[in-house]
Amino acid sequence: MNILDFSFTAYEEEFQLDLTQRLARILPKNWQDESYVINNSNEKWLHLAEEITKDLSKDRLLTLAWPKKYGGLEETNLKQTIFNHVISYLAAPINNIAGIQWIGPTLMMHGNEEQKTIYLPRIAEAIDKWCMLYSEPTAGSDLASLQTRAIKNGDNYIINGQKLWSSNANFANLGLLAARTNPEAPKHKGISNFIVPMDSKGISINPIEDINGNKNLNEVYFDNVIVSAKNLVGHENRGWYQMASSIDFERSGVGAFSNAKRNIEKLVTIIKDNPNIAKNKKSARDDIADRWIELNTGFNLAFKIPLLQDAGINPTYEASVSKLYGAELTQKIAQTGMSILGMDGQLKNNSVKYSAADNYLASVANTIASGTSEIQRNTIANQGLGLPR
Ligand SMILES: Cc1cc2nc3c(=O)[nH]c(=O)nc-3n(C[C@H](O)[C@H](O)[C@H](O)COP(=O)(O)OP(=O)(O)OC[C@H]3O[C@@H](n4cnc5c(N)ncnc54)[C@H](O)[C@@H]3O)c2cc1C
Repeated sequence: MNILDFSFTAYEEEFQLDLTQRLARILPKNWQDESYVINNSNEKWLHLAEEITKDLSKDRLLTLAWPKKYGGLEETNLKQTIFNHVISYLAAPINNIAGIQWIGPTLMMHGNEEQKTIYLPRIAEAIDKWCMLYSEPTAGSDLASLQTRAIKNGDNYIINGQKLWSSNANFANLGLLAARTNPEAPKHKGISNFIVPMDSKGISINPIEDINGNKNLNEVYFDNVIVSAKNLVGHENRGWYQMASSIDFERSGVGAFSNAKRNIEKLVTIIKDNPNIAKNKKSARDDIADRWIELNTGFNLAFKIPLLQDAGINPTYEASVSKLYGAELTQKIAQTGMSILGMDGQLKNNSVKYSAADNYLASVANTIASGTSEIQRNTIANQGLGLPR
């Protein structure tokens, strides 16, 4: 397949259909309605995530582009992206997205053979749940200024500090931690990454309720936490370069567009079924048409990434292009939904079973999580276009 050819082969189409049918058998019958109003720290959501993640892991579908020896099927990155697309499009609850989509691939690139052999198959088999422990109260966009310290002590490191906004740390049993190992070196050159068991003595986790009432974000405190030197990933003080890869993996997801597709399709259905909703809103048709065009542009940006990977090219600024476009499109769709549904959209259980308000509130974080839009634009300007800083 040519990199500019974004169509799926018959084999990929068949995979998409099979996966959709498989998930339809597991998801509750009314899931397509319920999924628009349920929040993802709800018991039902968590229970379904457990069931679906286990089911998919049986056929190694979570990690199908990984090498067989680490629990994959050695399929293409494009097929993995189709998998991710179907999951998000159906809003199928799934666990350990961080482990599957960005921490696992980072360990594959930078971990030693022992770490890969221990941890990667456990991600593929849906045994472990990971969280990413990078951001701190004073280190988000400027991640290299992080202050959490790791001091070598014999065969161990002793960790002290605080992490913030750690998604799903309250559900994870393992974390990928970035900590400063050399405070004398320039800030990018004194950071190391560690695999940390989240039940280690001295770790305390404090969930933070978000704007939608979900409890997936956390503060994580490290108070003299002992981590084995065996858990150092790659070389000491080279952690910054590993973080750059994991952040690129995180930004590469297709999920924003798959979600956008289901939201636009839902709005179209609502308007068709209830023509009065959009009757006096002249811009509704134009807005939806614009979102649809943007969605199709976005899919091309997102699917370009696995095609580059399958061609042996490592995407960098392309991940920022896709992430930025997806985050801003998500917010535009949320605004379109609010303006079309008006007061009805403010209600969680409204007549059209679509909580525009929840979507609107949730979308605020999209242009912050995994790097703000300003940071994506900086990356595109510097790395993509070679503009001076
Ligand atoms: C939902 C969500 C989930 C998250 N999950 C995780 C997680 O699992 N693990 C983790 O480690 N972190 C996580 N984060 C943290 C996230 O990576 C940071 O919030 C993000 O990088 C921004 O950092 P900050 O919040 O410190 O904002 P700041 O860096 O303080 O930025 C404040 C403002 O200044 C702007 N700004 C800063 N620097 C520049 C610059 N150089 N040029 C132009 N503008 C600039 C920013 O764009 C922003 O508007 C999550 C965040 C959210 C919202």
